[in-house]
Amino acid sequence: MDGVATKTGSTPAATLAKGALRRLAQAQLEPTPENYARAYAEEAGQPPPAAIEDGRAELRAELRSTGQAWAALVERLARNLERGGRQWSAARRKESLKRVFDGSRSDAQRLQQRLQSLMSAWETDQPSDPAQTGAEDPPLETPQRAELPAEAWRPVLGSLQGSVGAALPREVPQAAALADRLAELADGVAREGPTPALAAAVESVCAQARRLFQHRHHLVDELSALCRELSHGLVELAEDDSWAQGQCTALHLTLGDDSPPQVRGVRAASALLAETRKQQQRVRSERQAAREALKQLIQDMVLEVGELGEHAGRFQLATSQHAAAIESAQSLEGLAEVVKALLHDTRSVQAAVGRSQQKLQADQTRATELEDRVRALEGELRRLSEEVSTDALTQVANRRGLDQAFEVERARCEREAGATLAVGLIDIDNFKKLNDSLGHAAGDTALKSLAAAVRERLRPVDHLARFGGEEFVLLLPGLAAAEAQQVMTRLQRSLSEALFLHEGREVFVTFSGGVTAFRAGETLQAALERADEALYEAKRTGKNRTCIA
Ligand code: GH3
Ligand code: MG
Ligand code: MG
Repeated sequence: MDGVATKTGSTPAATLAKGALRRLAQAQLEPTPENYARAYAEEAGQPPPAAIEDGRAELRAELRSTGQAWAALVERLARNLERGGRQWSAARRKESLKRVFDGSRSDAQRLQQRLQSLMSAWETDQPSDPAQTGAEDPPLETPQRAELPAEAWRPVLGSLQGSVGAALPREVPQAAALADRLAELADGVAREGPTPALAAAVESVCAQARRLFQHRHHLVDELSALCRELSHGLVELAEDDSWAQGQCTALHLTLGDDSPPQVRGVRAASALLAETRKQQQRVRSERQAAREALKQLIQDMVLEVGELGEHAGRFQLATSQHAAAIESAQSLEGLAEVVKALLHDTRSVQAAVGRSQQKLQADQTRATELEDRVRALEGELRRLSEEVSTDALTQVANRRGLDQAFEVERARCEREAGATLAVGLIDIDNFKKLNDSLGHAAGDTALKSLAAAVRERLRPVDHLARFGGEEFVLLLPGLAAAEAQQVMTRLQRSLSEALFLHEGREVFVTFSGGVTAFRAGETLQAALERADEALYEAKRTGKNRTCIA
């Protein structure tokens, strides 16, 4: 300060100091050292100190850029206030703005940041991030929903109604009623626009649907647990060497122990049970027939023995009569007559005994044959249940063979980097119709012919297995899904020729296919589940084609 005073020369320092303070008071500036130095220099008619001038310039620049930033933000705000959006109705925009102002009024920098975040949310039509804007989105309230433009609501509600409607099981009356109601409401919105009453009604129907879905999920869990329990129980119940044991074990394996049930697994288990029941019915009715025949034989034998007894009784009576006649015979001629009669009776009894013996022997042979047949049938069933790898009808691998082949391919994929495996599923189209029109035997021929036709068109490294019924599985090593689709499509085209002749007439068969790429680490079941989805799509979109999943 002394330095400054000495430069002024004529005016005493105290007067200058007083003047500087007056300047500060007039300018309503705080008497900080910098302000004071600046005022003093002005009072003395000197330029302001350099540091102070620099600070002022900086401040001015900062103020200018802050001002520009705020001006841009306000312009953006003004522009966005006019803008429409699905997320941001006018009311929601107003509400969120109020929240941002309320939350950061005292801190300009924070206010600026939050406003910028909010503007971004409005511009991208996304919900705002409370961490960024400091404001939760206002809750959806009926009047605000009514402000959404109708054209935005219609497709949303249409697709919502489609999904929920498809998930509601038509066979459950309550669910069917909900689906119908939802369709009505969607129509209502399309017609009248999204009125608050319609919105409330949709919400109520959705809440009811949600309860129903939860209940059905619970039902599926319960059913899965029941199936597992049953399959456990069956394995334990089946006698050790009974033919049913193989079936029960297979069922148990198909259902799996702790993974969630999959459609294909459950369907395979049902098919297995149906097959088991069919076999059981067959053996039961054949056994019953054999037992009936045996019963009949025994009855015949009893009758035979009875007849023999009667003969014997009659013979006894006759012989005692003959004995009496002999005793009372008066002449040799009379005696000869009696002996002749006795001889006749003896011969006829002998013949009856011979006949009975023959019949009894024949019956016994027949009984032994029947017993053998029952034993053979049981043996056949046991063999059926034994886990052999080839399907008896088509002579391609069965499920067990498929599991073995898959194991080999899976190990190869694990071993060789970049190895691929395509898994395909084939289901004959309209096979029921073929069975119904040409008979089951022709159906069997179709299965055999198709398996042979496919087999001979595949490479030696490919695997074909009958998965059950009229479904086959393909394992195509080294192929990507798209290549496998081409292979299967070629197979389909090659079936444009007749597959076989039935009573001199050509029979044509087509099939639908689903194919997927095996993913490292997954089970065959999982890959088949995907292939099945693709197969379903192929069926749905017109059959005789192959889709990829
Ligand atoms: P889609 O085109 O939808 O597959 O119709 P589809 O008629 O083929 O329907 P689905 O797959 O349900 O029918 C399979 C039929 O195959 C039912 C069953 O009678 C018959 N089937 C299953 N196994 C055999 C078999 O070993 N021999 C014969 N002849 N028919 C079988
Ligand atoms: Mg089928
Ligand atoms: Mg079929």
